Amino acid sequence: MIVVMRPTATRDEVRQVKEEIEANGLEAFVSVGEERTVIGVVGAEVERASHLGTFPGVEQVVRITQPYKLASVEHHPEPTRVRVRDVDIGGGGELKVVGGPCAVESEEQLMETARAVRHEGASLLRGGAFKPRTSPYAFQGLGVPALELLARARDETGLPVISEVTDPAQVSVFEDHVDLLQVGSRNMHNFVLLRAVGQSRLPVLLKRGFGATIEEWLLAAEYILSSGNPNVILCERGIRTFETATRNTLDLSAVPVLRGLTHLPIMIDPSHGTGQRALVGPMALAGAAVGADGLLIEVHPDPPRAKSDGDQSLSFAEFGELMDELRRLQFIRAADAMAPPPVPASAEVGALRGRIDDLDRQIAALLQERAATALAVQQARGNGWHGHDVRREHELLARAAAGEGVMTAEEMSAIFGSILRVSRSVQRRHAVASRS
Ligand code: PEP
Ligand code: MN
Repeated sequence: MIVVMRPTATRDEVRQVKEEIEANGLEAFVSVGEERTVIGVVGAEVERASHLGTFPGVEQVVRITQPYKLASVEHHPEPTRVRVRDVDIGGGGELKVVGGPCAVESEEQLMETARAVRHEGASLLRGGAFKPRTSPYAFQGLGVPALELLARARDETGLPVISEVTDPAQVSVFEDHVDLLQVGSRNMHNFVLLRAVGQSRLPVLLKRGFGATIEEWLLAAEYILSSGNPNVILCERGIRTFETATRNTLDLSAVPVLRGLTHLPIMIDPSHGTGQRALVGPMALAGAAVGADGLLIEVHPDPPRAKSDGDQSLSFAEFGELMDELRRLQFIRAADAMAPPPVPASAEVGALRGRIDDLDRQIAALLQERAATALAVQQARGNGWHGHDVRREHELLARAAAGEGVMTAEEMSAIFGSILRVSRSVQRRHAVASRS
């Protein structure tokens, strides 16, 4: 920290400032310039000198280090890995996905969701028991019975569970039932709650306040860390801006910004971040792409009938598609999905699998032949042209979609869409090669 004195400051005023710094257990380095004097403040707790701005003769106090310490990369250069039961989050490890309902509504709803998200490869289960709703008339959560259901879902599926704690007095009942404490956006500034979870043995997921800067968020994390709990995960869930097209504005740039400031793991919540089901998948993928350590996704067996946040909850099928996409893009390894039950070895299954291998060989040979034929069309047209013809492509997609079988029109279109994309890229590559 540097104290900049006014050009008119007297020697007495400089002396008073120096004495005040030393009285606070800090060191003062006075540098007298031609126009003004500046005083460098050095010590582990320079924050103690932040009141010097009000001293006579002082122009301004300039902070040159971050106001948080335990959360900072300077304090802890290695990325922190937070262990939630047997699941590690952060520390450069693989992306982890938390799935589950906004609120626990019934045993059936939670168990069904727990099994579905586990089946799709989620690593943790979420479920609100005490819901901090904007309106006092909205569903407030089932309370402690919901925590009991979460514990039961964990016992059945093996997934660690996370739930939001809103009251310091309830930390101990949460400790009896859940594996990860969530501090919600509305409570990020609740310093009594932050200190209470800071004294817990459980790790804490700290959501960003919807009106909080990154510095305020890290200072909130500092409350937890300085109360003795080193296991804090940050979760970006959107901030309030002038934009009304989405529920919140998901600040994805927070991830790389935080990487430069803190060692704590970072998660993204695209459900609260967007408020709309159709936007959750794209923003989840974007969150994974900017390097988040985890995703928090709301999933419900019947989103239109959810008691809270149905608009932003994914159905089981939508959650499954998102998990497939995360695997396809290799943000999560396929092996992380629940191991499929072994197929009973029988002569019949063996024959079916043999037939599949045979079909795959034929498909591969046909695809090579198709690409070679497309190249021949391109050569017949001359190298200045691509071989593809958009009108013919549309016809082909329509024919594929009209075919009958176990696959839907969308599934067939997806396959032929990729064949056409690859075919174009093969033609482009050969055209470039023959020009050079
Ligand atoms: C939640 O995750 O259930 C929740 C209420 O989120 P937020 O605190 O981000 O609004
Ligand atoms: Mn919610």
